[in-house]
Amino acid sequence: MEAYEKIYKLHELMETKTVADLPGPYKVGVDLGTADVVLVVADEAGNPVAGSLRWASVVRDGLVVDFRGAMLIVEELKAEVEARMGITLDKGATAIPPGTVGRNALACGHVIAGAGLEPVCQVDEPVAAARALGITHGIVVDIGGGTTGIAVLRNGELVFTADEPTGGTHVSLVLAGAYKMPFEEAELLKRDAAQHRRIMPVILPVIEKMAAVVTAMLAGQEEYHDYPVYVVGGTACLQGFETEFSKAFGRKVHVPPHPLLVTPLGIAMFG
Ligand code: ATP
Repeated sequence: MEAYEKIYKLHELMETKTVADLPGPYKVGVDLGTADVVLVVADEAGNPVAGSLRWASVVRDGLVVDFRGAMLIVEELKAEVEARMGITLDKGATAIPPGTVGRNALACGHVIAGAGLEPVCQVDEPVAAARALGITHGIVVDIGGGTTGIAVLRNGELVFTADEPTGGTHVSLVLAGAYKMPFEEAELLKRDAAQHRRIMPVILPVIEKMAAVVTAMLAGQEEYHDYPVYVVGGTACLQGFETEFSKAFGRKVHVPPHPLLVTPLGIAMFG
């Protein structure tokens, strides 16, 4: 399957709560995010087999802040996918924002271990996204709930990563302030595609700020000026995001289908 075909397939499997054929051994990826936790099962070729997502607040700015809550959610997602597949999942990969170190870096592995999945690998989030997109040469920007991470790949080699605490949470905070509503309500408003045209003028400065953050990360790295740029992560789901981010960034960027699912699928490919 082509990269975009895999992402569409994963979305369909998650929406319909179904499973695809599993021709051989499986791989599992768990994305513990600021806004959601996603568990994906893929086959050896990286084709999606099943997946499940829970909106959650167990991670902040890429760091696990509610260990037990995170573990219980992973346990739940694991049980749900196992029931669908009729097998027991016993190992998996996790991911962290680039630059996460020490105990914070170990926390994701401990969470999935607590949920019954032996951690086999931990990757940087944008590196996982690059794997899902099949990119060996280019820049991947992952704008999640709490962080914006980038990975630059040259001829299959990871040559640069960076991460900043700016993401969709900041979009929701601006909406909450502008419309005088609780954060949770702003989150739901933001995820309603029917509202995206209306809210775009309000959130545009945040998108411009994200583009400025990525520009600053790449300052002095002129050699990457002609590398293709892909933006993934839930924030890129906003309609009009690709156009506005490209304008502010001064370069055309590409947003793949269902950008929220790209990193979770990539993590599973490392499982
Ligand atoms: P991080 O990687 O920063 O820890 P995460 O893994 O939770 O966070 P993602 O799952 O990629 O990040 O994206 C979550 C963000 O995307 C949240 O801010 C969420 O509100 C936003 N989001 C999700 N769906 C949509 C949508 N349809 N439209 C706009 N924003 C969305």
